[in-house]
Amino acid sequence: MPTRLTIIGAGPGGYVAAIRAAQMGAQVTVVEENEVGGTCLNRGCIPTKTLIASTEALEHARNAAEFGIELTGEVRYNLNKIRERKDRVVELQIKGIRALFKSRGITLISGKGSLLSEDVVRSVQTDGATQDIRSDRIIIATGSRPARVAGFPFDGETVMTSDDAVQLKSVPKHLLIIGAGVIGCEFAFIYRSLGSAVTLVELLPRALSTEDEDMSGIIERELKKAKIALITSASVVTIVKTAGGVMTTSLSSGQEVKADAVLVSIGRSLNTEHLRLEDAGLAAGSRGEITVNEKMETSIPGIYAVGDVTGKMMLAHVASHQGIVAAENALGGDEHMNYASVPAGIFTRPEIGSVGLREHQAREQGIAVSVGRFPYRALGKAHAAGEITGLFKVIADAATDRVLGVHICGARASDLVHEGALAIRLGATARQLGDMVHAHPTFAEGIGEAAEDVFGRAIHVPGERRERR
Ligand code: FAD
Repeated sequence: MPTRLTIIGAGPGGYVAAIRAAQMGAQVTVVEENEVGGTCLNRGCIPTKTLIASTEALEHARNAAEFGIELTGEVRYNLNKIRERKDRVVELQIKGIRALFKSRGITLISGKGSLLSEDVVRSVQTDGATQDIRSDRIIIATGSRPARVAGFPFDGETVMTSDDAVQLKSVPKHLLIIGAGVIGCEFAFIYRSLGSAVTLVELLPRALSTEDEDMSGIIERELKKAKIALITSASVVTIVKTAGGVMTTSLSSGQEVKADAVLVSIGRSLNTEHLRLEDAGLAAGSRGEITVNEKMETSIPGIYAVGDVTGKMMLAHVASHQGIVAAENALGGDEHMNYASVPAGIFTRPEIGSVGLREHQAREQGIAVSVGRFPYRALGKAHAAGEITGLFKVIADAATDRVLGVHICGARASDLVHEGALAIRLGATARQLGDMVHAHPTFAEGIGEAAEDVFGRAIHVPGERRERR
């Protein structure tokens, strides 16, 4: 008799767990109340990156003359076509997941799942019909949704969450974005390219405050270059809709900002309310995050949780990897999550790719570090590609020379950072990273040079820097 595994939620955590469990011979049922792919595919990673691809194409067309390309006529975009392309990309991926499920014999039930007991999941359909699924193992992967501020007049059109903004129904003349975190900054560049005047308001003293300061500093400069206003150390206290659809917002600083639309991107709330966690006796933290250990086990044997709902790193690939760990452990394995070498991409213009410790984190933890930096503009490839803005940064333990962090802001940073992830994963030293031969001409040369700069030995930087150590 195969193990009966039920998964609640078919986002990147749940659907990947389902496939791995099916590969291992389990009888898998997935309960999903919306569409497979979850936030990531329907309202997050994929639609935003598809919109970014359109705005990048637009920026390339606007800058074509720099590359010797003469476009006759005005460079224009068609909002409907941008939206349709995004919808097509999403639809294709949804079909792909559904086909994978079918090919692996995974049962997909449309309904809202909850825990009836330690071994029964109840699914309630929209028409009220219920189905109780007896399960040997359960994985909770119900994800998250945009956090809302009580009192803000959300209407999906003029006062939006990221779920609305990604639909790109219109391009407001002036968009106010509350929260200059990852999502807020990504949308700032998207809407700015499409012609909105954009103001970002951030509670903390800097944009992208979780990133290394060198990286967020570059993005703050690029926001300025793009004429995106950034107001830091301030919060929006009230939003009042006035006649003519213009919104007046007042900030904690006493400032008033008028806008045609507001995007509230202040974080995520976890989808745990309807699960009846307390009935099952599952332990949860102060934000409602389900408590898990590194094997993704909850406080109840046989019940696992993965993805955003665990409140760890809220990233799609983390959810998926946690899903693999949970599925394998649910079926007798002994897998562990390791977050130290998880890379992350931020798809601003330019991108950020980061892995491991930020310099300020190392300082806070009292770790003495040696740091190497190398600018994009010192790379031949960067000039050839017209992408000279950016920086490579390698952070190494001063005592052992082990790579602790790699941070890149610049073209293709989200791909390039994986070399740093591998270095951290394998315990490589900065010396080894610098010794590795990097192909010329590539952006990746910058990682080798930054690693060499840890010892003051980068080749393509002026002499006084080389003699630093
Ligand atoms: P989700 O993707 O939220 O999926 C949970 C699923 O569970 C949903 O389908 C939901 O309908 C379902 N569900 C919830 N409750 C129930 C229930 N009771 N019964 C049945 N089904 C239920 N991450 C990245 O790594 N890279 C990016 O570039 C990136 N960009 C993003 C951009 C935006 C605008 C947003 C909002 C997020 C982005 N993220 C990105 C984050 C990423 O989307 C999430 O970390 C990821 O989707 C989490 O996966 P999950 O499986 O835990 O949850």
